[in-house]
Amino acid sequence: MHTHSTASDGTLSPAELVRAASRAGLDVLAITDHDTTAGWEPAVRALPPGLRLIRGAELSCRWSGTDPAVPLHLLAYLFDPHHPELVAELARVRAAREERGERIVALLRADGIDVSWPDILAGAGGGTVGRPHIAQSLIRAGLVGSTGEAFGPDWLGERYRLPKEDIDVFRAVRLVRAAGGVPVFAHPRATRRGRVVPDELIADLAAAGLAGLEADHEDHSPAEQAHVRALAAELGLLVTGSSDFHGTHKTVRLGAFTTGVEAYERIVDAGVTEVASG
Ligand code: AMP
Ligand code: ZN
Ligand code: FE
Ligand code: FE
Repeated sequence: MHTHSTASDGTLSPAELVRAASRAGLDVLAITDHDTTAGWEPAVRALPPGLRLIRGAELSCRWSGTDPAVPLHLLAYLFDPHHPELVAELARVRAAREERGERIVALLRADGIDVSWPDILAGAGGGTVGRPHIAQSLIRAGLVGSTGEAFGPDWLGERYRLPKEDIDVFRAVRLVRAAGGVPVFAHPRATRRGRVVPDELIADLAAAGLAGLEADHEDHSPAEQAHVRALAAELGLLVTGSSDFHGTHKTVRLGAFTTGVEAYERIVDAGVTEVASG
């Protein structure tokens, strides 16, 4: 229910991603690239027999209830990809990502670190640019050994981390619903990624139209997974699990966590777009 392709910061093309899902024995795959639907068409065209595809995206959001705002990710499933306001918002965020990437590179270069913005953009190959693409250039330059190291505090995790102009999360939930989609809060409790939002905010989001919470995710400890499940039960939200697969930009394998049939059916029933079948 949550994977990335070269349309954002994954390393498999959309076609390779659906073929890999089939080989991994999955019945259903959701493609959820950051702030784009560009991978939908090539994924549908390459869909192997027996695999169903949920078309989605992972929206870059922020909660402004504290200062500085908390960045968070909203999965959106089965929405109308032509909804004008949503399309405009995604384009705005992608542009903001490029602008932020360029500023991060300027900071690195000011410290004498030889990375090049044109090379990073080329590495993203037209997909949504993210810090994993900058991480690749740090690896290529021999400055770090892995993506994980590039996300450490000395690099993109803190010292060279800059905020981007994300979508207000309440606006995002309403926009996804207006576009006929199903909004699910991605890794809501992932303290190892940084600050997380309070449960009260999640209750407010549920009242605003949030449909579910992602519980089973490698960035949640077992206690965090259990907490998210309990909160979802309390708020009447559905619960998902996912690998958040990124190809070789992460070590998690495709299918590492999965979603139950009941949650899947609730998502499919609530979404305006049909599930594509191979
Ligand atoms: P951005 O969207 O540009 O802020 O970059 C965030 C992305 O980087 C996330 O979607 C993950 O794919 C990736 N990421 C975050 N933390 C890590 C980490 N510790 N190791 C590898 N990838 C990470
Ligand atoms: Zn990512
Ligand atoms: Fe995410
Ligand atoms: Fe993700």
